[in-house]
Amino acid sequence: MKCTSAVNRFIRIFSALSSSPITLRELDQLDLERIKGIGPKTKPAIEEFGIHSVLDLLETYPRRYIDRTNMSTLRDLQLGVEAMVMVKVLSCQSIRTRNGRAMVTATVGDSTGKLSLTFFNQAWRERQLTQGLEVAVFGKAEMYNGYRQMTNPIVDPVGNQTGRIVPIYPQSGKSSISSERLAKWIQDALVKCGPRGIDDPVPSSILKARNLIDRGEAMRSIHVPETTEMHQAARRRLAFDEVLRVQLMLVGKKAQWERDSAGFAHETTGHLIDGFMKALPFPLTGAQTRTIAEIYKNLASPQPMHRLLQGDVGAGKTLVAVATMLAAVQGGHQAALMAPTEVLADQHAIGIRALLDSLRLSDEGNLFGDRQLRIELLTNKVKGAVRKAILAGIADGSVDIAIGTHALIQDKVSFKSLGVVVVDEQHRFGVEQRSRLRDKAQESEHGLVPDVLVMTATPIPRTAAMTVYGDLDVSILDELPPGRTPIVTARVSDEKERSAMWADVRSRLAVGQQAYVVCPLIEESEKLEVASAEETFEELSHGELADYRVGLLHGRMSSLEKEEVMGAFRRGEIKALVATTVIEVGVDVPNSTSMIILDAGRFGIAQLHQLRGRVGRGALESHCYLVTQDNEPSPRVEALVASTDGFVLAEEDLNLRGEGTIMGRRQKGQSDLTLASLQRDLDLIMWAREDALSMIEADPMLKNLPTLRDELDLLFNEEEEEFLFKS
Ligand code: ADP
Ligand code: MG
Repeated sequence: MKCTSAVNRFIRIFSALSSSPITLRELDQLDLERIKGIGPKTKPAIEEFGIHSVLDLLETYPRRYIDRTNMSTLRDLQLGVEAMVMVKVLSCQSIRTRNGRAMVTATVGDSTGKLSLTFFNQAWRERQLTQGLEVAVFGKAEMYNGYRQMTNPIVDPVGNQTGRIVPIYPQSGKSSISSERLAKWIQDALVKCGPRGIDDPVPSSILKARNLIDRGEAMRSIHVPETTEMHQAARRRLAFDEVLRVQLMLVGKKAQWERDSAGFAHETTGHLIDGFMKALPFPLTGAQTRTIAEIYKNLASPQPMHRLLQGDVGAGKTLVAVATMLAAVQGGHQAALMAPTEVLADQHAIGIRALLDSLRLSDEGNLFGDRQLRIELLTNKVKGAVRKAILAGIADGSVDIAIGTHALIQDKVSFKSLGVVVVDEQHRFGVEQRSRLRDKAQESEHGLVPDVLVMTATPIPRTAAMTVYGDLDVSILDELPPGRTPIVTARVSDEKERSAMWADVRSRLAVGQQAYVVCPLIEESEKLEVASAEETFEELSHGELADYRVGLLHGRMSSLEKEEVMGAFRRGEIKALVATTVIEVGVDVPNSTSMIILDAGRFGIAQLHQLRGRVGRGALESHCYLVTQDNEPSPRVEALVASTDGFVLAEEDLNLRGEGTIMGRRQKGQSDLTLASLQRDLDLIMWAREDALSMIEADPMLKNLPTLRDELDLLFNEEEEEFLFKS
């Protein structure tokens, strides 16, 4: 694993005696007890806080800063307006309310007046707010019993810290680690680093070009900034370090992967592909042509492809995926398509079978010299003898295309010769799953790495694409097939609007168009979701849509039942289809012009966008109604009303949800972007990517930047490191 052998450690400790600047590695090895005020008793409490070394301590950044010059006095405090005041605690007491809740009240004051603070269910405040303590209080004052009072304000103990700008560290009420104590320890650590200084392993040419300050200065200024500008400069420098490390890891991983793995050199012309292209009822869009060319270039080369295909709903990704898989099949290999849910896998199987129905694969062992492609669906629902037969077919190579869920990467599945893998990441798989599918292929006959295409229908903000998918090449399908009419989206939130909506829908059904009604999403239970769909179905077929034939589609129906309902809907026999989110993908009925989403506030932006993409597929004008509770604020629904552009919505989603959800599991390790932000730091992330690309190109193993390379080893976890610079 890590090459921290005894010898290395000895060398490091020895070098610590020298006067070269201190590296992060050394800081990581420095015991917390070296810090003034930390002893054997305090150490466990700090460790519980997640701080195990002096490096951890220095990387505990302030949550916010209090600028003393920027405070209101109590005299100027206005009722009902949020304000921050710097005050002293005069008294504090705790009582229990009649219903047993803890209530802490404190009186605070400055030279101009007094204020009372009330806290509910925060019994620990009594211990925190000791008499005489200086605190910054942020909140809204109201009159209560003739006194000005703030209820549950934000309180930051400033203690006896001096300086204009006071850092406030994250702290938990339960632990004894106060912001003030953290500040003292961190300042001591900074003082102790002083004589040798903190090493800066980033080449100065980069720092100069990017106008970034020195790391040591940044470390000091992030903790004790003298001015707001200093703090900004410090944050940018340290954030750059975070994103640069991520990019070096991703770019290095990609370069290493390309160097070390042997893949297939697929034939990208030939009877199968040509036959498929010729049989298409429409010309490819420009974006499809471009994307397929990008992919085929990868496929033809013996270096394995690792590519992300981003394309909005309806952009025509399925076709690109099929064209990719056919290259493998044509050469006598297999292809796999992995979808995140059974329903999506099902839908893909139906769609892809239909697309490939007429294609023949030459087969000498067959009387007619050719045969149909064998496409099989493998999910956890497929059981018994059928499953056995499919597994056998995958193993002996007679299955050409396997479509499935993560069932495809289970141990029992082994491919004879897996040449292409398409991963439909609708809702995002982890990196681990992606690489497991790749590993599977290496177990097969040739031990060659298959070409991998990752598809996402959820456009990703540029910063996230560069960060989460930074180890992939990217193709973008940014052009919809012709003949689509923009969808008109409206929010429907009261009774009047609701009945107007149904009247509108009826008027369109009356002229032969069709409608979808999507039922409330109930994530906790498919059973409840199905029940609610059944209820909606009953209501509509006897109420608003009583004059039309209404169908019901949900995930608990057998595939046969589903196919029947979908068939009737496609043929136009069913006019309105009440469904759970199973229609999210794969359904394509251009005659459908209304999409009604009930309880739309429960869905995420990406999902709403997906659902809306089920209409607007033909030349007729389509409408999407997002039904919400009366007056319930719903920024996601508003976003959908405002835009139909998936990339715009993706940025909005990032703003609303924050980055945690986008980064997912990959960023949970030590490599967390603590200071860098996918929302704010597009420029830093782009610079870091450029710089990482040129650094790795010039020096793939970072031999000439050993300290920086060592930092990557230090800061990334094993899973990430597994790929990293292993020769
Ligand atoms: P996505 O998977 O990107 O959401 P699909 O692959 O389902 O989109 O394609 C959406 C619809 O557009 C399908 O009905 C498909 O047949 C059709 N389509 C795809 N490519 C073209 C094209 N070049 N011209 C016209 N229609 C197309
Ligand atoms: Mg290849």
